[in-house]
Amino acid sequence: MSDHGHEPLLGTFTRERARSGAGTALTRSAVALARRHDTLDYDALPPSLARKAIEPGDRAYDDVRHTYTRTGSPALVIQAENADDVAAALAYARGQHAEIAVRSGGHGISGRSTNNGGVVIDLSRMNAVQVLDRAAGRIRVEPGARWGHVARALAPYGLAMSSGDYGDVGVGGLATAGGLGYLARRHGLTIDHVTAAEIVVADGRRLRVDAEHHADLFWAIRGAGGNFGVVTAFELDAYELGDVAYATITVDATGTAGFLVEWARLVERAPREITSFLSLFPARRGAPVTARITLVYAGDDVEAAQSALSPFLGAGPVLHQQAQLVPYHLIVTPPENRHQGHGLENTRSGLLEHLTPEAAGVIEEMMRSGDIPIVQFRSMGGAVHDVPADVMAWPHRTQQFSVLAAATPSRVPALNASWARLYPHLNGMYLSFETDTHPDRLLDAFPEPVLTRLRALKAEWDPDDVFNRNFNITPAGAEETPAGAEETAAGAEEAAVPAGGGR
Ligand SMILES: Cc1cc2nc3c(=O)[nH]c(=O)nc-3n(C[C@H](O)[C@H](O)[C@H](O)COP(=O)(O)OP(=O)(O)OC[C@H]3O[C@@H](n4cnc5c(N)ncnc54)[C@H](O)[C@@H]3O)c2cc1C
Repeated sequence: MSDHGHEPLLGTFTRERARSGAGTALTRSAVALARRHDTLDYDALPPSLARKAIEPGDRAYDDVRHTYTRTGSPALVIQAENADDVAAALAYARGQHAEIAVRSGGHGISGRSTNNGGVVIDLSRMNAVQVLDRAAGRIRVEPGARWGHVARALAPYGLAMSSGDYGDVGVGGLATAGGLGYLARRHGLTIDHVTAAEIVVADGRRLRVDAEHHADLFWAIRGAGGNFGVVTAFELDAYELGDVAYATITVDATGTAGFLVEWARLVERAPREITSFLSLFPARRGAPVTARITLVYAGDDVEAAQSALSPFLGAGPVLHQQAQLVPYHLIVTPPENRHQGHGLENTRSGLLEHLTPEAAGVIEEMMRSGDIPIVQFRSMGGAVHDVPADVMAWPHRTQQFSVLAAATPSRVPALNASWARLYPHLNGMYLSFETDTHPDRLLDAFPEPVLTRLRALKAEWDPDDVFNRNFNITPAGAEETPAGAEETAAGAEEAAVPAGGGR
């Protein structure tokens, strides 16, 4: 029985007027109406949103219910087209006391951008990329754009903006949390380039924030943005970039610890034009432990690139290698696929000052165990360290590497046991790569005094804790309510990792 009192009329073609959005002519079949959730008053949806709302009975629902990483069954997905829509959707969802998920690109790992039975504010239609001032490199980007599309749109201007390694990731989630990309050592994090943002805050106000206007909020949204509102546009200073040298080297990493230490030594000594990512895969089916080293040289001087890249051929026995000079946007071209919630359910994330032999030894044990299908490193020295630690809510400005390890659900206890051994070697955490959103982890991402300042600002800007789905920072003075933590992968097993910001 639906909340409108209809029996599902399977097999009939009877259509009746759905009153979603009073006065609109939108109709839904009785079958579609029967799939509405009892928890939501669909008739209370403002008329301006009626045609932008997708319900469980709608044909488009299967295209929008899941994200890249998670499956979901929201009661309503509202596809906002502008900031007014965002404010209206927020007011509606709050009025319904519905769980709210904010979705830009749907690639959240720590952040949950779908839910079960709640409202999703989907920003994918707000995806414009504008060059405001070519000479100054000023660009304006809406949150629903994908980074691959941003790169493609900037290329004709000779501009670029570092994001991550995967062009399908959305602007909104990444540009509010960090952005550790292929140009990080040369140009820093994505958030280091955010100069202003337009945001809808919990009470519905639309604000422009920058260094002069609501400077505290501007500080908070560069690192902890998911806790403070819905960013509807970012202004960034992009930089000039021609082609880049892009190389991949596959290495036999049987002597894992020694190999990792050598790779890390090469990265730390490399010119800051070099940024390197590394993925480590365990031995299987007769193949050894292998490492895939990705290297980007941010420049088109072939000789300089060759001399910066070639030392990495000595990191271990090379199984395969390739290098090419390519436009940056071609290395972050997004695939066109529907999100079906297929990956990265359980990851642990940490930061390393240096990749020491001791830490590398723990990683080697992880590889030997067969429990961990992938460990990934991203280099983050160079320009990432140029920014003072207190300028924004991303204080990690001394660490050289980010590391993540992933496991399937059945292997989470093993992952946690390994991670507990690695933990003493870590100093901090990049929240975007962590699925354990238990409050204990907050101090790793936001070591004091950052967390206290964030909680005070949360009390000011989101006292009712509306935005609680991405490492929930509870307002100062409120009870600790670990919203979102109930979905953590390993429950009590998570306690295997101690709290408190690493070493
Ligand atoms: C395959 C893959 C590769 C990745 N590679 C990298 C990488 O190389 N470097 C890196 O730094 N990160 C990387 N990430 C992590 C990525 O940055 C985060 O998961 C990011 O949150 C994804 O952004 P999104 O808009 O796609 O996320 P969504 O799933 O849409 O949102 C995730 C969360 O971000 C918040 N959020 C989203 N939009 C807004 C908004 N407009 N305003 C305020 N808050 C918002 C919400 O809390 C939301 O729950 C990768 C993730 C994946 C899945």
